Amino acid sequence: MPQPRDDVRLMAGYHSPLVDVAVRLNVNESPWPPPAGWRHELAAAVASLDAHRYPDREATGLRRALGDLHGVGADQIFCANGSNEVIQSVLLAYGGHGRTAVVFDPTYELHAHIARITGTAVVRGERGLRFELDLGEVRRVAADALADVVFLCSPNNPTGRADTLDEISEVVSVAPGLVVVDEAYGQFAPQTALELLPGEERVVVLRTFSKTWSMAALRLGYLVGAPEIVAALERVALPYHLDALKQAAGRVAIAYQADMHRRVAAIVAERERLMGALGDLAVDLWPSDANFILFRPRTSDAGQVWQGLVDRSVLVRDVSTRPRLEGCLRVTVGTPEENDAFVAALKEVTK
Ligand code: PMP
Repeated sequence: MPQPRDDVRLMAGYHSPLVDVAVRLNVNESPWPPPAGWRHELAAAVASLDAHRYPDREATGLRRALGDLHGVGADQIFCANGSNEVIQSVLLAYGGHGRTAVVFDPTYELHAHIARITGTAVVRGERGLRFELDLGEVRRVAADALADVVFLCSPNNPTGRADTLDEISEVVSVAPGLVVVDEAYGQFAPQTALELLPGEERVVVLRTFSKTWSMAALRLGYLVGAPEIVAALERVALPYHLDALKQAAGRVAIAYQADMHRRVAAIVAERERLMGALGDLAVDLWPSDANFILFRPRTSDAGQVWQGLVDRSVLVRDVSTRPRLEGCLRVTVGTPEENDAFVAALKEVTK
């Protein structure tokens, strides 16, 4: 058999196990679909689609709508197939052989994973004791490594807390290259790095339609940043990588922004209720600014608890093999009924 590149051959994949259960709280999806109006408008857009023609290569309408949403020009928006493809495009343009990306563990594993796929060297720093950004460590790692790309994740997956704007600004002041702030869960958090953009040309912010917009199936994510950076990303993107259906789905969704914010508020309220219920069980908990909660069962090991939950038809994410997360699991906030089912199952498994 032909062999893939050595570094690819040795790479482990990155996926949550596929298990058939009733309550799926493992990949931070929204528990609710977008509103019926969105579905109807999208169906109409699909019905009038010119399927025999290539889609708008520059995704003009979608980028203009997103630019309006954030008060920036369409030339400051880069769209792709999920924010994972945005991350890949950033690394294709700003990483690659001879270049370095820096991450601070524990964090979203795909930043380092995609960096390695693109041949970018990865240097790993650590977050502080409570998983906050440790600026001494940032200074030591990002500056010493002459990082071409620094990844921050705010709110941080899987630990839950958002970085403050002061912390992010400090990172920008010590990191020599591009600072990517992954805000996949941005709408759940009290502040956003988008506020820093006008003065900080080296900062880019990533957003996705997969979580707060309830559109994980559509695969749409984007970056907000300086026009020069967006132009560089366009150079590495494949022609017509954004299909017409996706462009329409995103454009239509933006008109339903108020519904999205209502869902976010409902999830935040559920998160606080879930946090309270977990507080009565034998688990350690970390505060969250996102739609998930990191917890560590005190009575049995993470693998046993994960399996015990699966046996009761509840699926959460086992993150216990990640750096600094020994014994930890992560649960996505679901509907009230799903959360109740999770708490009841966890109570049995940890008693
Ligand atoms: N960034 C973070 C921090 C995430 O948690 C996820 C989803 N797990 C993504 C990016 C990717 O999201 P998508 O590709 O669905 O936009």
